Order: sequence, then structure tokens, then C-alpha cells
Amino acid sequence: MAKPLVAIVGRPNVGKSTFFNRMCGKRTAIVEDTPGVTRDRIFEDAEWLNYQFTLVDTGGIEPASEDIILQQMKRQAELAIEACDVILFFVDAKDGLVAADHEVAEMLRKADKPVIVVVNKTETQRDQEMLYDFYALGIGEVYAISSAQGLGIGDLLDEVVKHFDPVEEEGETERPKYVALVGKPNVGKSSLTNRILGHQRSIVSDIPGTTRDAIDTPFSREGKPYVIIDTAGMRKKSRIEDKTVERYSVIRSLAAVRRADIVVVLIDAQEGISEQDVKIAGYVHEEGKPVVIAINKWDAVEKDTFTIEEYNKKIRSELSFMAYAPRLYISAKTGQRIDKLFLLIDQAYENANQRIGTGILNDCIREAVTAVEPPSDHGRRLKLYYATQVSAAPPTFVLFVNEAGLMHFSYQRYLENFLRKSFDFSGTPIRILIRERK
Ligand code: GDP
Ligand code: GDP
Repeated sequence: MAKPLVAIVGRPNVGKSTFFNRMCGKRTAIVEDTPGVTRDRIFEDAEWLNYQFTLVDTGGIEPASEDIILQQMKRQAELAIEACDVILFFVDAKDGLVAADHEVAEMLRKADKPVIVVVNKTETQRDQEMLYDFYALGIGEVYAISSAQGLGIGDLLDEVVKHFDPVEEEGETERPKYVALVGKPNVGKSSLTNRILGHQRSIVSDIPGTTRDAIDTPFSREGKPYVIIDTAGMRKKSRIEDKTVERYSVIRSLAAVRRADIVVVLIDAQEGISEQDVKIAGYVHEEGKPVVIAINKWDAVEKDTFTIEEYNKKIRSELSFMAYAPRLYISAKTGQRIDKLFLLIDQAYENANQRIGTGILNDCIREAVTAVEPPSDHGRRLKLYYATQVSAAPPTFVLFVNEAGLMHFSYQRYLENFLRKSFDFSGTPIRILIRERK
């Protein structure tokens, strides 16, 4: 299950960052940072009463003239409504209500998403009295907190988690595979979506958008059910070219990635691989999703016998952290290799969901250890006792050893490659966790 996304929106200086930092002060890295991918703190995992969720720092509103601030706040709110599950609308007890708060409240009121008004900087008796004014926003729930002093945050989080969907039980019927198409603007997401859905678009109805505005379109191919998570239908704001646009497109893509079973990362063949592509792929990798890299607009590239190998080489080196992902050259325009794309999608999904029996897994590890001796340090040698697969999607293995500190990054990489040679994990990341057996 993807963790719910909780967005924080509001004017500059109301204390959004202070709250964000308080909630996510300690960064716990569960996956190694992807090399070559600079990370912004856009998403941070948080936990309350056994509920796991992700706070989204939509960020990016610089103090400026009131008009500009308002315009930016509207875009921020729009994004939150579109991509997130719960919205925290931050206002400032010291400032009281201001005109921009009213305008944004109006948008949020119309949204089909839970919105909680958070009155930050509530510390004194006077601040408390201000509170009633905020009910005038007409959004309903109003919570007073002080991010700086840590007041009221527990009550607020109690309310936040009430809005999360209960965890669904898996039914008997075949669950469709959720496929997300991600990539920078103009890479061809809408075109590919249309190409895949073809005539089906008019005959299938959208899954009613109960909690999300992003359109999920079910379809079937070769008798198998899929749902395409449509990040493409989202509005394009081509006139505004700034950091915020990029940040928002990352948030949109990642919201889709988290809900997906398989991700197709699209790269524009005409433009070649860009920094933004690497960033998007990095997020997909860290989410641990099965992935296929599709180089689109292949019809528009002048080719000779070396062209594919040149592209392959460039992509392999730029996306070296994703060496497991198959690459495919497609055209949304002509439909070239769309059938093959679905073969790879299915394969990646199956590979990510396979379970390796403990016996065969340990045979494989023993073979690896025989071929290359584990590292040692000051006369102490790493011993591998036992391995077991603890989960799938992505396949995750726990390896019990004598001393975790003796495990070398390079040896772990070797073991991963050995596993990849022994089993078919193409299209999926795999994780190896090292535990000491006492
Ligand atoms: P953002 O622009 O919304 O992210 O706001 P910041 O988190 O950067 O905070 C803006 C200013 O308000 C900073 O000077 C903070 O120290 C201050 N601030 C944040 N939270 C509180 C609070 O709960 N109480 C008070 N009194 N000040 C706060
Ligand atoms: P999105 O922003 O990722 O949804 O991209 P669009 O699907 O809107 O496509 C952006 C532009 O690229 C449009 O002008 C498309 O016609 C064009 N385009 C998309 N796919 C292909 C393709 O496979 N070949 C060519 N030649 N053009 C394409």
C-alpha cells in the first residue's frame, strides 16, 4: 500500500517549514541515496499511532508582492488538491486572517479532499482568541498549534490520520496492474496514453474519482486488466518556467509512482537524456518499483546501425543505478513496439513479485561465497549464515551474518549481481538487508 500523501500549503512565513522539520527532524535513510541524484526534501516519511504517511513540502513560495504570492498559493493549492490525500492549510495566529487566506480557502472548500485548517503560532491567550476568526474560512475543522513550541500537534495528527483510507483486504478477483507513465513535460505521456487506450477510451468509464482527481483509466489488453494512472491529463503550465514548475512536476510524478505497480519512465529520443530524466528515474528507483525505460519518439530520430547502441550506452551510464531496467525504443505516434512494451511491463511485474524458496536461495549464496571469498578485516572474516526472502515488490532478502560491519559495499554488490545472474530480476530493484545473528 502506498503511504498517504499529506500536503502542507499556506502563505510564506506561517511556519510550514518549521512544522515540516519538527515532524521529520530525523531523516532515516532506508535506501542508499541514489548516486548522481541530488535530493530535495520534498517528501518526508512521518508516522503517528502506527499510521505511516508522507508529508509533502510543496515549498517554493517566496515573499513577493501580494499578487504574486496569491498566484503561487493558488498553484500550490491546486497541486495539493490534485496529488495529495489530506491537505493542511496553514494560517498564522499572529497575523490573523488575510485576504489571500480567503481566496485559497475558497479553492480548498470546493475540493473533494479533506482539508484541515492549522492555526500555527498559537501560544498566548490572545492567539487563542483569534482562533474563532478562522472558522469564517468555512472549511470546518480548525486546529491550533505551535510548531515552534510543539503544542497541539498530537491532536492535529489524530485528526489527520482519521482521513486515511482503511487498508483494503485483497479480494479474490484479479486485481488490475496499475501502470504509471512518468517523464518530463512533452515527452509523450498523453500521446502514449491515448495510443494505449485507443478506441477503448470512449467505452471505458473512469473509476469514479472518490478521493483523487488524477484520472485512473481501466483497460484490458490480451484479456488482462490494467489501470493507467493518468499523470498526462494534468494541466500544463507552459507559460510559467521556473523551479516551482519542475518541483510540481516531480510531486505529480512521484504521487503517481507511489500508487503504481509498474512504472514506465519515458525519455525523449529527440532530446536525449536530461538531468530531469535522471531525477525522475532516481525517485522511481528509490520507491523500489518495477520499471521499464521507454525511449519515445523513435520515429523522429535519424538512425544508422550505431544509433541504438549509442543511446543504450548513454542511458546506461546516466542511469547506472537502474541497470536492471529494460530499455525499449518506441513511438507513441506510430505505435511502434507498444506490444513489446506490455510484455516488458508484465515481466517486470512478475519478476518483482516472485518469491525465491529458502533452499534454492541458500544454495545460490553458498555458490557465490565459494566463488569469491567474503571480505575480512583485522583477521576477522565475514561469515554468511543464512538468507531468506522477507518480502516481494521489491524482492527483499535478509542475510544473517556474524558481523555486519564486515560486509563491504562491493561484496554486497557482488552478491546482488550473483542473485541477478541466478534468478530473473530484470525490471525490478532488489534489496539486501544485513542482520547479525547473535
Ligand atoms: P514558512 O515560510 O511557512 O515555511 O515559515 P517558516 O517555518 O520558515 O517560519 C517563518 C517564521 O515563523 C520563522 O521565523 C519561524 O521561527 C517562525 N515560526 C514558525 N513556527 C512558529 C510558531 O509556532 N510560533 C512562533 N511564535 N513562531 C513560529
Ligand atoms: P506529455 O506532455 O508528456 O503528455 O507529451 P504529449 O503527449 O503532449 O506530447 C508532446 C509532443 O510530442 C506532442 O506534440 C506530440 O505530438 C509529440 N509526440 C509524442 N509522442 C511522439 C512520438 O512518438 N513521435 C513523435 N514524432 N512525436 C511525438
